[in-house]
This record gives sequence, C-alpha cells and structure tokens, in this order.
Amino acid sequence: MLLTISTTHQPATDLGFLLHKNPDRHQTVGLSFGVAHVIYPEASPQRCTAALVVDVDPIGLVRDRRGRPGSNFSLAQYVNDRPYVASSFMSVALARVFSTALSGRSKERPEVADREIPLEANLAVVPCRGGESVLRRLFEPLGYTVDASTIPLDTHFPAWGNSRYLAVRLRATTKVKDLLEHLFVLLPVLDDDKHYWVGPDEVDKLLRRGGEWLAGHPDRELIAQRYLRHDRHLAQQAMAHLLADEPVDPDVAVAAHDAEEDTVERRISLGEQRMAAVADALVSAGARRVVDLGCGQGKLIRALLAVPSIDYVVGVDVSHRALEVAARRLHLDTMAPRQRQRVELLQGSLTYRDQRLAGFDAAVLAEVIEHLDPPRLGSFERVVFAHARPGVVVLTTPNVEYNVRFENLPAGDLRHRDHRFEWNRDQLATWSSQVAQRHGYQVDISGIGPTDPEVGSPTQMAVFSR
Ligand code: SAH
Repeated sequence: MLLTISTTHQPATDLGFLLHKNPDRHQTVGLSFGVAHVIYPEASPQRCTAALVVDVDPIGLVRDRRGRPGSNFSLAQYVNDRPYVASSFMSVALARVFSTALSGRSKERPEVADREIPLEANLAVVPCRGGESVLRRLFEPLGYTVDASTIPLDTHFPAWGNSRYLAVRLRATTKVKDLLEHLFVLLPVLDDDKHYWVGPDEVDKLLRRGGEWLAGHPDRELIAQRYLRHDRHLAQQAMAHLLADEPVDPDVAVAAHDAEEDTVERRISLGEQRMAAVADALVSAGARRVVDLGCGQGKLIRALLAVPSIDYVVGVDVSHRALEVAARRLHLDTMAPRQRQRVELLQGSLTYRDQRLAGFDAAVLAEVIEHLDPPRLGSFERVVFAHARPGVVVLTTPNVEYNVRFENLPAGDLRHRDHRFEWNRDQLATWSSQVAQRHGYQVDISGIGPTDPEVGSPTQMAVFSR
C-alpha cells in the first residue's frame, strides 16, 4: 500500500526535516505485520514528495492470529485486500514511521512545523465504506479539497464494474502534524474495519490524535463509532471526553479562515458593497426564487431574506461546517414559520450535476469560482449553465489587477490562501463571453468597490441573463 505526501512549500525539501526522514536515503522500518519503506520520488526546492510504502506480510498476519478466539483457517485469511489497501495498517505504519512529526516536533525546522503549508496526500487504494460521499464528509470539513476516482475491478473486464476502492487525493494548506493526525484517525474510519482488537486504550488514542479537531467535526459521532468498531460503550465514552472539553466552536474556525480575506479587504468594506451590488442585480432582474451557490456562512442569505420581492432563498455549500454556522447565524431553529419557509440550506458540490439546483430564477456565485480548481471549471460550467440553468446568474470574483492597491497584501499573493486563481479583467471577460455563448446567455460585466483608473475595481461582477 502506498501513501505519498507532497509539498510546494519553499524550499520544498524542508519536508524531509518535517517528517524526520532524509530525502537522500531509502529508509526501512520493521513493523509487526511487515515492513515500511520511506523514499522520495522527487526532492527539488520547488516540490518534494515522500512516499510511504507498506509491505504487509499476509502469511505473518495469519500466523499472528492463530490461537485467537474465533479464528479458524480459511483462504480469505491468506488472500484478502489487507496488503494492498490503506487501512488501519497504514495508520499504524504512519504512527511508527512519522512519530516525531505526528507529535508536531521538528528539530531542524520547528517554525515550519508550526506553520500551515500546502500539502497533498495521495493514496493509491482506499477502501471506503459509503463511497466518495463519506470520504468527502470526513475530509472536507477539515479544509481538504478532495479528489477521488473509482477503481475498476478489472480493467480487462469493464463489465464487472467498479470496486469498492477509491484512489484519493487530498489537498490542504495545513500543518504536517494535522495531516498525519487526520490520516491516522480517518483511514480506519473509511475502511470501517480494524486489524486489531479494539479496547479502551483505543479511546485514548482517538482522543490523543483527534482531541483538537474531532470535537468540532460535524461527523464526530460517525468517526468515533467507526474508529471504535461500533462498540457503543467505548464510543459513548469517547464522545463524553470530547464534549467535556469546551467544544471547538465552528464559528471560530470558519471566522479565522475568513478573517484573512476580510483583513485584506477591510478598509473599503468591500464585502458589504458586494452584497448590495448582488442584491441590486437580483432585484433589477425581478428574481423571486434565488439559489446562493457556495453560500458560506450565509451572510448574503440573511441580506436577501430582508428583500420583500424575494420569496425563497436556498443556500448551497460543499462545507458542512459553513452550513452549520449559517444555520446558527440565521437562527433557523427559532425562525417564525412563515420566514422559515423562505429559506433552505443544502449541502452539495457545484461540480456535480444536481437536480435540486434546477428551477430558480437566479443563481448567485459570490466569490466562489476562485475556490475551484481550474480543471473543474468545465464541470462547474455545465452544472450551473447547462443543468441548473437559472434565468440569471450573478457571479462575483476578485480582480487580481487591484491587488497591488492592497497595502497589507504582499506582492504576488492572492487574497485568500484557498484561492486557486484570481483573474484579471480580461480573463473574466473572455471566460464569461465564452460561457454565455455556449449556453445561450448574454453577459454584462461591471466593477464593485472604488474604481482605480489603472487597475479597475477590487471586485468584478458578471451578470448573465437569458
Ligand atoms: N459566497 C460566500 C462565500 C464565499 S467563500 C461569500 O460571498 O461570502 C467560497 C465558498 O464556496 C466556501 O464556503 C466554500 O465552501 C464553497 N465552495 C468551494 N468549492 C465548492 C464546491 N465545489 N461546491 C460548493 N461549494 C463550494
């Protein structure tokens, strides 16, 4: 089984110091069930990748189990998926091989170990009970961009269909320690099986590795149940410990994330101007049923509920955590019934066709496309403009040319660390007119915020109508 961890943090070779494994050497660590190897397929200052290859010895495994209650010989003991898939064996190997990194320490690069850096983990074969949606539910609330592809049972026999395994890529700007902890806890959770006996010390392990992030995870119960192999008593014990500590307030986490963008743009309170401009565009288009795609914490939804001509607002976001915050900020649970009927929150991704997005007068995409990976823009375009196909699409995105006017933004930086790109005015104009042409819309582009004669406005808005 194979796990690679890559970074583009500069110099990328710091990864060797963070993992405490020298990129120049092939290192081998003996495990009770086999051998782990660490090698670096690439180690340049721009990009560095460490590969953890775990070689499970299936014969040794069976030998170890002999004499255990309930064990009896069967071929399945010898021929099974365990040697090949990332499961609890991978977790044990991670903890053994990268123990110092898991504890958050780095002798040579302590300051980098404390920093969030761009990291990517690739897992060749992940058994995933519940499929891709469970994979996303587990990792996306922790800030990962998740890519998964199904693995066919046999490429020579396509008719056999897909296996229950996924090839998985996870990307986030995070600490190495956090990435390792997330993998350590969540790989066995995905697999929903464990190769060893689960006893009370597993509760300690779960609390030690998940203590900081698990309490605030929307699926913490699923995680505790699966991690503790559905032992109700142990799971309850774990939850009691997790919740005894002050639970992590998702507001704090999401707000910290947003604060970055806010600080950069604060001086002109661009967020407010953006909401006003979007609401104006919706009202002038006569929209009554509006879907806010990538609604985040629901600020715009709140503003739109105050507009009498708008009857119904649906917020959609891929992040469970953002939606939780939105529900709380909108006070959905205590809203008057008539008002409550005007609003709905849905979890969903804008890169997958979704029937629930159809039938709206207008869709808003406020500061969302720059969070999508450029290769996903094609699917996003089809989902919004071909399938959902609202009468009007109001889209806002930063104008990268304006970044030089933000005094607190270092030259060349984007406004938010999750932005995959920021377009100049030409780029938005070109993309928008191609999209409009392909799907039978007309498009109008304008600026939001103060207009600078050289670099234009900080935000650009494209309004597509049919
Ligand atoms: N529209 C809000 C939030 C912008 S931040 C505002 O103007 O303040 C971008 C939001 O897009 C985040 O909440 C993020 O979770 C969401 N997002 C990113 N990729 C997404 C996808 N593929 N599908 C749905 N939402 C996505």
